[in-house]
Amino acid sequence: MLNFTVGPVMSSDMVRAIGQEQVPYFRTSEFSELVLECERILTEFAGAPEGSRSLFITGSGTASMEATVMNVFSTNDKVLVVNGGSFGHRFVELCELHDIPHVSIDLQLGQPLTAEHLAAYENQGFTGFLVNMHETSTGVLYDMPMISDFCKRNGLFLVVDAISAFLADPFNMAELDAQVMITGSQKALACPPGISIIVLSPKAVERVNNTKSRCMYFDLKDALKNGERGQTPFTPAVQTIRQIHARLKEIKANGGVASEVARMTMLANDFRSKIADLPFEIFSPSMSNAVTSLHPLNASAHQIFLTMKDEYNIWICPNGGELKDRVFRVGHIGCLTPEDNTTLVNAFKDMQKRGLI
Ligand SMILES: *Cc1c(COP(=O)(O)O)cnc(C)c1O
Repeated sequence: MLNFTVGPVMSSDMVRAIGQEQVPYFRTSEFSELVLECERILTEFAGAPEGSRSLFITGSGTASMEATVMNVFSTNDKVLVVNGGSFGHRFVELCELHDIPHVSIDLQLGQPLTAEHLAAYENQGFTGFLVNMHETSTGVLYDMPMISDFCKRNGLFLVVDAISAFLADPFNMAELDAQVMITGSQKALACPPGISIIVLSPKAVERVNNTKSRCMYFDLKDALKNGERGQTPFTPAVQTIRQIHARLKEIKANGGVASEVARMTMLANDFRSKIADLPFEIFSPSMSNAVTSLHPLNASAHQIFLTMKDEYNIWICPNGGELKDRVFRVGHIGCLTPEDNTTLVNAFKDMQKRGLI
């Protein structure tokens, strides 16, 4: 099986080998040291300012999105949310559910956020900003420096869901003055699902410590306190943390976050150059290195996904909702190579010969 979805993605042999081992007991100094090392590397890779903290939440990326909304915002806030697809919409729903006053900027699917969109919200008393750096559902990568400037000008507390962008696109919390960054184990970290990560700047730590949590499992004050000694309040997905640890150390040994982003850029560009002659249109004008979203000109996107899966044993990523038949996505995150891209492109060419695309 060749997997070009946007997560879970393909893992290296090294990561998979850890998955085969017995799960160790975790209230030990050895596991604490491993967690603390993960925290140190992640904080560095996120470009987080001095004194930042990284928390490991057992739950998929949405768990960390929800924990963040609940622990850093309150009814006293007024939050601007970029809603450009299903992940932006998830932040809107979370604000609604947790009674966080908010306004959503609703974008057309596949369209980037522009300075004109933001202009209407200058000096309107907002206190926070929620954005999915890469709206994975449509493949749009937002202009983070533009968003950062807007937040700095207006004094907004910037929370970035970088779940699919982290390690795929350049991102630096300190430069962007982002206070929270969220990512997950099953995207570019290329580990099994189960752990999501919240990186908190010192200002975000302060906010968490001053916000009353109405949930025991997602009380980040508790997570921060336990994290000081490299532990989590409850049993974490131990094996996934061990896999993340091995993967982070591997990336660090191979040159760090910049080398990983360069590898992703190479893979994305390689794929995009190989499909130039195929009957597909790029769906988003502003793309992440994590994903290429494509609109097939002559066939149903969903049917292409099904044929690839059932007849070629290759998984591309289908879309849901109104984009189901118009758009499919090809991921570049995970343990993939340019040769894998060629295999996929040859399968597309074969489908073309058969009159299927
Ligand atoms: C994958 C992803 C999520 C999290 O989804 P889960 O299924 O909860 O892991 C959130 N935001 C973005 C931008 C994503 O790509």
